[in-house]
Amino acid sequence: MNFYTTILGSGAALPTVARHCSGQVVNVNGLRILMDCGENTQTQLRIYHQKMQGISHICITHLHGDHFFGLPGLVSSMHLCGRTQPVDIYAPAGIRDAMNLLMQVSGSHIEFELNYHELSFTEGMQLLFETPLCRVYAFPLLHSVPTYGFLVEEKPRGNNPPRRYAYCSDTTYIESILPFIEGVNLLCMESTFNQAFTAVATEKLHCTTAMAATMAQKAHVGQLLLTHISARFKDPELLLAEAQAIFPNALIAADGGRYEVSY
Ligand SMILES: [Zn+2]
Ligand SMILES: [Zn+2]
Repeated sequence: MNFYTTILGSGAALPTVARHCSGQVVNVNGLRILMDCGENTQTQLRIYHQKMQGISHICITHLHGDHFFGLPGLVSSMHLCGRTQPVDIYAPAGIRDAMNLLMQVSGSHIEFELNYHELSFTEGMQLLFETPLCRVYAFPLLHSVPTYGFLVEEKPRGNNPPRRYAYCSDTTYIESILPFIEGVNLLCMESTFNQAFTAVATEKLHCTTAMAATMAQKAHVGQLLLTHISARFKDPELLLAEAQAIFPNALIAADGGRYEVSY
């Protein structure tokens, strides 16, 4: 069974030519889940050959603009392209009001159903939805606004243990999430800063390379994929070296990169 993520945007709040704002498509054997939808996500979908109308579920980690300002444009384009299938949107409380206001003042009309599932829980892990192929959960992170990480778990097949993928952005170092990401095959984690910016990361509730790598190590994950890279880092090799000193099986995400969730 195919299980991989395609990164559409690996940058932080300020997009650059090389790194767009947050977005990725998680593909579980053809089921396409869009996670985050920063500005320009719809164009990135086209550039990286991800079928826009194939997206059935959208999970938004939080309502900072770099994670959802692409959503009104994306749903408008879905409508313009004749969509009739519903889309389920999972996001912190406030998404429905924000989207309704934008649709109203812009005179936009959407023919298909947008089903909003607003999240407001503050502890534990909750099942968002399940399909015949997988289950998708959310758990709270620690950031300056309500923020959730997402876990995608395939359903057991034969003798193989189910593979699991977790996406955590944005957050600072927080050990309460370790049980939720324990042993995942692939952890995609924000690493906005390098170690020289530890004080800034702590103040702004983001992660450094070392914080992300330490969480990966403590949670015994298989592979670590660093994303949400600040625009100040033109050469990510420094970030990678810092992370690998703590957790060797680390990668830096690239826009357009496809990363397998593998054993
Ligand atoms: Zn962000
Ligand atoms: Zn944020």
